[in-house]
Amino acid sequence: MEGGKVLISGGGIAGLTLGILLKEKGYEPTIIERDPAIRTEGYVIDFFSTGWDVARRMNLIGELRKIIYPIDSLEYVDADGRPYLSLPIESVRNALDGEYTYMQRSDLERVLFDRAKTVGFSVRFNTTIKSLEENVSEVVVTFQNDTKESYALVFGADGVHSRVRELTFGPESQFDRFLGYYVAAFHIEHHHYNIGRSLAIYEEPNRSLWVYSLGENRLSAIYVFRHKNIGYVPPAERLPLLQETYCGAGWLAENILADFPATQPIFFDSATQIVMPAWSKGRIALLGDACACLTLLAGQGSHLAMAEAYVIAQELERHGGDYRTAFAAYEKTLQAVTKKKQRDAIRISKFFVPSKRSFVPLRRLLQKTLFSNLLIRYGLEIFGLKSALSGYQ
Ligand SMILES: Cc1cc2nc3c(=O)[nH]c(=O)nc-3n(C[C@H](O)[C@H](O)[C@H](O)COP(=O)(O)OP(=O)(O)OC[C@H]3O[C@@H](n4cnc5c(N)ncnc54)[C@H](O)[C@@H]3O)c2cc1C
Repeated sequence: MEGGKVLISGGGIAGLTLGILLKEKGYEPTIIERDPAIRTEGYVIDFFSTGWDVARRMNLIGELRKIIYPIDSLEYVDADGRPYLSLPIESVRNALDGEYTYMQRSDLERVLFDRAKTVGFSVRFNTTIKSLEENVSEVVVTFQNDTKESYALVFGADGVHSRVRELTFGPESQFDRFLGYYVAAFHIEHHHYNIGRSLAIYEEPNRSLWVYSLGENRLSAIYVFRHKNIGYVPPAERLPLLQETYCGAGWLAENILADFPATQPIFFDSATQIVMPAWSKGRIALLGDACACLTLLAGQGSHLAMAEAYVIAQELERHGGDYRTAFAAYEKTLQAVTKKKQRDAIRISKFFVPSKRSFVPLRRLLQKTLFSNLLIRYGLEIFGLKSALSGYQ
């Protein structure tokens, strides 16, 4: 099978990247997305190494470089908002020979979505899969509205709580690995905080807050805190849970939550990895957070999501559409590096946010050392600087 109709569930970074690359190789991709539109909310992502490598191969770097926010430095601040450590973004960029940028996750999705329109396929919004049935020549997909369509291949790029994974491999509980944190992120319009031009991080035992300006009087806040696993938190319970968790916290942590309108959406999820022995079964394959979620603690989930899409498309082309061989090569190319990054994230989870036992002066000294101009490249090595596709054609 070369070319042919393929279905991609999930219009995030993984799904859009795969759709573009498969379309360019002669396939007919259909992307379905549960949400009514491409997301505009989210959080900041660092973009370098593997992500940069794939974006360059896709000729997207020019578009990504155009995304600019009023952020000149990363600053750690104390309970009164006074910086005790400042790292110019330019130092990070120089340490990575200019191959670094940052953006909102939604920016990357918008750039990919625009490219998808250029290469000539669209995304079907408000659509999800009800069931999947594979036979010898195709996968019959039943959508939520009970319509049926057949596809040569089906891809699950539908994130950490993937529906395709559940239908194909079974419940999430078989594959999830909770890292002990929850993450909440949201935007505030018309704020009155003077946060300047830095991505400011405030931390205290078991809870932290990242704040930065999006320009035009918009602010983005990310709360990362240790918590026992309480599973899915419904939207109505998110703000009260944050307010309870950050009660008495310093800097802007309580004020921002007090100002946040209760009706606005909050991204809220646990930091949970997905660890699977196999990423494909027959004509169905997973990619991105659906099979290889690293969590924000590893900082490169979007990079790997793009790399996985890239390798799937390359291997399908290389093997003339022989999906069994292509999927085996895909897993062989990226399983080991993913597992390593997942192990790294577990190590990072121990100190990502200080614990009650952390010795603050020592922690700050280590941060100053790792983020010094001299050692920043070494500091970034914690997240892995070599592209996962280095040497891969
Ligand atoms: C706070 C935070 C900070 C992060 N920072 C970084 C960083 O600095 N660098 C980095 O590289 N990565 C970072 N990550 C990780 C990165 O955001 C993810 O790894 C990446 O978004 C995964 O992309 P994806 O397309 O696989 O999944 P997702 O982004 O989850 O996209 C899945 C898509 O599928 C859709 N969907 C879900 N279910 C269904 C369904 N049943 N049917 C149809 N569609 C469905 C969703 O609406 C969504 O559009 C961070 C993550 C967090 C939470």
